[in-house]
Amino acid sequence: MTALQISFEFFPPRDNTGRDKLVSNVAARLSELQPEFFSVTYGAGGSTRDGTRQTVKALLQAGQQAVPHLSIGNDDHQALLDLLDDYRQAGVRHIVALRGDQPSGMGSNRFAHNAEALVKIVREHCGDHFHLVVAAYPEVHPDAKSAQQDLEFFQRKVDAGANSAITQYFYCPEAYALFLERCAKAKINIPIYPGIMPITNAESLFRFSEKAGADIPRWLQYGMADQHNAQDLADFGVEVVSNLCNRLIELGAPGLHFYTLNRWGATSRICENLIR
Ligand code: FAD
Repeated sequence: MTALQISFEFFPPRDNTGRDKLVSNVAARLSELQPEFFSVTYGAGGSTRDGTRQTVKALLQAGQQAVPHLSIGNDDHQALLDLLDDYRQAGVRHIVALRGDQPSGMGSNRFAHNAEALVKIVREHCGDHFHLVVAAYPEVHPDAKSAQQDLEFFQRKVDAGANSAITQYFYCPEAYALFLERCAKAKINIPIYPGIMPITNAESLFRFSEKAGADIPRWLQYGMADQHNAQDLADFGVEVVSNLCNRLIELGAPGLHFYTLNRWGATSRICENLIR
């Protein structure tokens, strides 16, 4: 059996104190689970360019594998190339390449930039230096006109040079199974890692999922509502998400990518329950 690849996602903390805490406390604890890497998100429109870069470098200095997310958004082309050069010099080997969440009111210009274009820019500028990870959507991206169109856009990113993909989170394992099947039929052969969102706060999960186009099944909505306090919800969440992860492993997931929300508790408990 090949080893299951685990990775963890952070967002860049607001200040130095938050960053130090993230690296010395959260990343240090999660590193005991021997992750392949820690990725760091990139705020829409480049809003966290410095924060992402500083967090990536702090992780590298602490001896961790750090992977920046990069979105094409409205970034100036030269600024994008400079950032790629900076990451290359710092020893970064993977990049998560995204279109990024877009500011509202962009009208017909909304699709002027996309992740496929970013993959092409990185390949043109840096050759094969970076392993490029792209996003995938087993439950279909909210911008897609159809599941078929969504798959075609995914295929275009792969054809442009993506090496692997991480999915948007979901709670229905069959959505992932069907997506893998459809990718196989379309001869998309890159590894597709499910994105896993631990359940710790029902309200923020609903808010986030609405925006991301992630479905919260009815049984899960009722299950969360039945919990009496934060500890009960945390225990319930660990059980539900551990079962989900183990089902995904059975379905052939090559690994799991956790959206940690910069916390280690729920993620470590779930990882301890994995059949590895
Ligand atoms: P794309 O692959 O370019 O497009 C997504 C979908 O939009 C396509 O599948 C298609 O359905 C539709 N589409 C694209 N182009 C066209 C077109 N020309 N015409 C019609 N439809 C089109 N966001 C951030 O801001 N920062 C992050 O760090 C971040 N990290 C993420 C990490 C992961 C693993 C995932 C899954 C998502 C992340 N996101 C992040 C969210 C992501 O940026 C959004 O989902 C965004 O809306 C789409 O990005 P993409 O790279 O998938 O875009």
